[in-house]
Amino acid sequence: MGAREKIAYLRGLIEGQNIAENAGMSKFHEALLSALEAIMEELDDVASDQDDLREYVEDLEDEVASFADGIHERDDRDSDDENSEDIYDEEEEYEPVTCPECGKDFFYQPDAYDDDEDLLCPHCGKPFKQ
Ligand SMILES: [Zn+2]
Repeated sequence: MGAREKIAYLRGLIEGQNIAENAGMSKFHEALLSALEAIMEELDDVASDQDDLREYVEDLEDEVASFADGIHERDDRDSDDENSEDIYDEEEEYEPVTCPECGKDFFYQPDAYDDDEDLLCPHCGKPFKQ
């Protein structure tokens, strides 16, 4: 018997007893039952919030999984391309840039970015134009 059924059972017992005593529902019993029923409703809300959250997390996991697949596919393509390792070995493929946000220098690979793509500063994490 779940909590909801137990409360309904309790309500039945109390109502039955009060009817038998011809007294009607006492204030105490009414308050007790409505408190229990209010708790049940709030638990239902929490449970449905939790369902929403679980669905959201599952969606997120799917997205992360397909994102990770995309990265693996790109890795596979790179390793098939014999020239790619040579590019990584050549230092002139990296260019120094100064972050306009925090003023710190770092190196980036111009080939890895589209012309209109923002660079991301590794020091302050702010994006800016090349
Ligand atoms: Zn910065």
